[in-house]
Amino acid sequence: MKETKYPQRVRNELRFRELTVKRVERIGAAFQRVVLGGETLEGFSSPGFDDHTKLFFPQAGTTLTPPTVSDEGIVWADGVRPQARDYTPLYNAERHELAYDFFIHDGGVASRWATEAKAGDTLLIGGPRGSLVVPEDYAWQLYVCDETGMPALRRRLEALSQLPQFPQVTALVMVRDIADKAYLDGFAGGNIEWFSQNDHAAVAARLAQLTVPESDYFIWLTGEGKVVKNLADGFVTEALDPQLVRSSAYWHAK
Ligand SMILES: Cc1cc2nc3c(=O)[nH]c(=O)nc-3n(C[C@H](O)[C@H](O)[C@H](O)COP(=O)(O)OP(=O)(O)OC[C@H]3O[C@@H](n4cnc5c(N)ncnc54)[C@H](O)[C@@H]3O)c2cc1C
Repeated sequence: MKETKYPQRVRNELRFRELTVKRVERIGAAFQRVVLGGETLEGFSSPGFDDHTKLFFPQAGTTLTPPTVSDEGIVWADGVRPQARDYTPLYNAERHELAYDFFIHDGGVASRWATEAKAGDTLLIGGPRGSLVVPEDYAWQLYVCDETGMPALRRRLEALSQLPQFPQVTALVMVRDIADKAYLDGFAGGNIEWFSQNDHAAVAARLAQLTVPESDYFIWLTGEGKVVKNLADGFVTEALDPQLVRSSAYWHAK
């Protein structure tokens, strides 16, 4: 019997980086891509497809000073930690650029910042502090997400498309605007199924049709907190190995 391959946790050196916006591009209907660069990108590493970095946003009219990191912890200049949000880093080592694809929605500091960002603006980021390196060659892979997980899913599909043989991948993706399908165009190897953002019942019903093999599988569920919990409650049974199932909230409806 083959030994089970497990995802491995990797600890990265914690660094804060002040980066400069190089350009801003609209990707599809609802994604704003902000491409950053700068000398402090040196040494950036993000080995996990669903890594996250913290993006820090200053109060209006103020600028941020990176904190100091020591054995005592992280110390911010004025003792106040600025507002932070989690985003998936899309690093291009050859171009030495770091991009973020922001799903644009109403009423958020990060979403608003991305909408207004222009070349020359600065952004303070921290991390990724830790990464989960998930083997790429599981024979059967399932990804469930909404727009917030699409950048990580895209990273994953890009990596899988480099394998000699594309594994059996099913992705169930919930979107508000079907035009955002275009964001994952070009990954012919995966079976991507699209659902309306509000139709969680349809996603649950589709999950109920799937049969997870006894071994050699990986399952990734992300999205809005309550939605992820409901989908996981209905789908993730005790028969599944918890180390091969990753389920996490990417945002919370308020
Ligand atoms: C590991 C990880 C990686 C992530 N990667 C990405 C990424 O690459 N791209 C990306 O776009 N998001 C990503 N997210 C999700 C992102 O961090 C959240 O959506 C975040 O709340 C957005 O911050 P905000 O300041 O714009 O809105 P907030 O200030 O957090 O929220 C303001 C209002 O908007 C609502 N809201 C927040 N997010 C959404 C949403 N997606 N849709 C509709 N309403 C929303 C809230 O309920 C609230 O009412 C990731 C999250 C995690 C945990």
